[in-house]
Amino acid sequence: MSEEIAVVVTAVPGEWDAVAGHERTKTRLHALLRQGRTPHALLFSGPQGIGKRKLAAATAAALLCLTPKDGLACGGCESCRLMAVGTHPDFYAVLPEKSGKAARSVKIEQIRALRTETARAPRLSERRVILLDDAETMNDAAANALLKTLEEPPGDTVFILATGARQALLPTILSRCTGVHFSPLDDEAMARVLTAHGVPEEIRGPLITLSEGSAGRALRMFGESAISLREDAMAALEKMPKMTPEDVFSAGEQIGAMERERLSEWLRYLRLLLRDLLAIYGGSGALLNADLEDRLFALSGKATEAWAFAAAREAAETARRIETSNASPRLVIEGFFLRVGQ
Ligand SMILES: [Zn+2]
Repeated sequence: MSEEIAVVVTAVPGEWDAVAGHERTKTRLHALLRQGRTPHALLFSGPQGIGKRKLAAATAAALLCLTPKDGLACGGCESCRLMAVGTHPDFYAVLPEKSGKAARSVKIEQIRALRTETARAPRLSERRVILLDDAETMNDAAANALLKTLEEPPGDTVFILATGARQALLPTILSRCTGVHFSPLDDEAMARVLTAHGVPEEIRGPLITLSEGSAGRALRMFGESAISLREDAMAALEKMPKMTPEDVFSAGEQIGAMERERLSEWLRYLRLLLRDLLAIYGGSGALLNADLEDRLFALSGKATEAWAFAAAREAAETARRIETSNASPRLVIEGFFLRVGQ
């Protein structure tokens, strides 16, 4: 195997039933697998962190299994055994790589290595499966190289592309793939995933609300003590309608010292809290942060709807600047407090 290909051990493949939610998507895929009619290129699209890669691995295990049962992986053959330990000779997972300061991307060298590999016959199974995750990170050169492969597909290869940003892929690639769409997970599926990962019951509710159907995000937030970050945002919001210049300075210093990514999350919570505040003014009872209802109601008495509206707009603009510009987070956030705090 070529060294340029990043082969990863994926989450225990073959466990079709272990993928939470996505019942309709799974039914459709299962029908294709059962009938042996899998297209040569599939495109799994949908939000990040909802199980696309897991189901891709389970699909790959089914396609590679030597003795499939009802179209799915048997779990016991040589192929399934190698899939489970991440060393199947006919399964490749290509992931974006980091190089220098540039953002992670799938590079042309990785696609070229794949092309060399697909020129050979599969080693163990009837076919080979190539998973290309975060496919939207392919640069143009890589995408065009992949396109050539997709235009003349090797008969014994199935490509599974996965992406959280379908619109960022070349139309010519989209047109050569069979789309499989994934929706955000519903609350029940989310609860199942969080329970399986040992998330305590009392914070499952807020995590499910805040992560908007992405189990990956919920688990990350759990790991990053998201609840305390939301508390930081709530505490700042409570002070915000009336700030002295000293308050603005110290808030800018404290919040602006966060890492850019954490600051983005902080702004996300702030926006969700402001959304709730506007919902209170609008007379709608359903709050996303229902556990903070009392404090949000108290705040609605101190601020005005016009202020909350302006603050929500400023928060959105500030989040955009933090995510897309290289301006100092400290200055950006101080500017935010200056505009909304007085
Ligand atoms: Zn098997």
